Amino acid sequence: MPLDPRSLIALGGLMSAMMAVVLWVMRRNYPPSIRGLDYWAASPVLWLVATLLFSGRGQLSPFLTVVLANQALLLGATVYYIGSRRFLGHGGGWILWGSVAAASLLVLTWLTYVAPSYQLRVAIFALLMAVLYGAHLRFLWRHGGKGFPMRLVQVVLALHILVLVARFTSIVMGRADSDAMEPSHFQTAYIGAYVLTVLMLSIGAVLLATDRVRTELEHLAMHDSLTQTLNRRAIMQRCHEELERARRHGRGPSIMMLDLDHFKAVNDTHGHQHGDAVLVHFTACTASVLRSGDWLGRYGGEEFLILLPDTDAAAARHVAQRIHVLLQAGHPLDCQLSIGVATWQGPQDSLEAMLTRADAALYQAKDLGRNQTCAG
Ligand code: GH3
Ligand code: MG
Ligand code: MG
Repeated sequence: MPLDPRSLIALGGLMSAMMAVVLWVMRRNYPPSIRGLDYWAASPVLWLVATLLFSGRGQLSPFLTVVLANQALLLGATVYYIGSRRFLGHGGGWILWGSVAAASLLVLTWLTYVAPSYQLRVAIFALLMAVLYGAHLRFLWRHGGKGFPMRLVQVVLALHILVLVARFTSIVMGRADSDAMEPSHFQTAYIGAYVLTVLMLSIGAVLLATDRVRTELEHLAMHDSLTQTLNRRAIMQRCHEELERARRHGRGPSIMMLDLDHFKAVNDTHGHQHGDAVLVHFTACTASVLRSGDWLGRYGGEEFLILLPDTDAAAARHVAQRIHVLLQAGHPLDCQLSIGVATWQGPQDSLEAMLTRADAALYQAKDLGRNQTCAG
């Protein structure tokens, strides 16, 4: 049974209003690092305006209920697309899509007043929306990654493109109805698709922003804020997991304890900020030596831990040597360091025992004159 278009439009308005409130609250409360939320929050407001204008059909002037109503719908979709671009760290979008919106305003006005044609208006509008959603979908496909919220938004856009293309085809084939409020199957499906899209795109924005906040919080909880290496808790967790894995597979890691030499003197001579810069330089150099499966973490102060999965003593020494060499390359922030290495000795070995051996080896390196590696 075809639904009454006016009821569907009212439903769309209600959903837009609810989602606008949700997204504005999120925009206010989420960290400013989550970009694009202001655009995403503005689009349901525009969709709400569109539904209010559409529902005035027959009572208000066609400029409001036809031209501006469609325009608000198009602008809502444009603003949502710009929001997606900002969310993924991209600028631009306004010049092209702002021009498209301006052109559509002129064309819709022309087809309402100068050469009135409901069919042509709907056909051109459906085509414009399909192209805009297509550009949006292409952008998300290229830059959006693979998470569930991103896939949801992509599917919604793709489905709506299909509806728009079907609508366009039906008009080209001369099967369109003659009035927007006619309760035909076509009109029901068309307006229903808009209502669902408004709801699903807003939910998609909520999920995307929430997912991003979760990722950022996880990063904060696991990383050291100065050096961006793993913090103590996270590197210890990785070490525990790696020893579990070693017990199952019989191949174990090496663990390195690193301590910068005379770092107090570096601070005292050049200042604490210079000391911080040295720490950042040290971690960047060290990370560049490591393989993708290796982990570097800040154990505390100027002490760091490296976990080298599936690595024997000789290979670990080789890594240590490369770190020493890289930090003596003549960079103004170069420093010297001592390293203690402990290698897994079999299933009876524990993390505590390995750390004790690495620590003892580190002290030995310090005793022997620093700027060197010892194995425990
Ligand atoms: P050693 O060669 O025996 O390791 O001597 P050291 O001076 O490096 O060791 P000590 O433990 O005496 O001093 C460590 C210094 O590291 C003291 C502390 O102020 C500094 N430090 C710890 N964390 C930071 C940090 O985040 N930034 C800066 N700039 N300095 C730090
Ligand atoms: Mg030190
Ligand atoms: Mg120390």
